[in-house]
Amino acid sequence: MTPKILSEWIRKIQNTQETEPDCDWVKAYLPAFAEANFTGQPFDKEAQVRVHLNQCPDCAELYEGIQFLLQQEADNELESIEIESERETAAPPPHSQSETSPIPAP
Ligand SMILES: [Zn+2]
Repeated sequence: MTPKILSEWIRKIQNTQETEPDCDWVKAYLPAFAEANFTGQPFDKEAQVRVHLNQCPDCAELYEGIQFLLQQEADNELESIEIESERETAAPPPHSQSETSPIPAP
């Protein structure tokens, strides 16, 4: 057994022992993870997903995309709520303007 093969063999054992989630595993959980994170709910796979996102730019980019979509959805909902509340609490026009009617100079 050459040292190179031995070191690879050790590396393989270490990799399997760590059981790091791969991209497919993370991508399967990303939507649920993003939504849970966005709504502030706990997610049981959060630690593993976060570790992978820190190491994998591809999955991190995908996660950012999902977050962006969630944010857009939330913004759309907020906008419709704001428009509705604006109608309900329509402030009456200030009547102070009519009291200070300027006297036209001759
Ligand atoms: Zn990945």
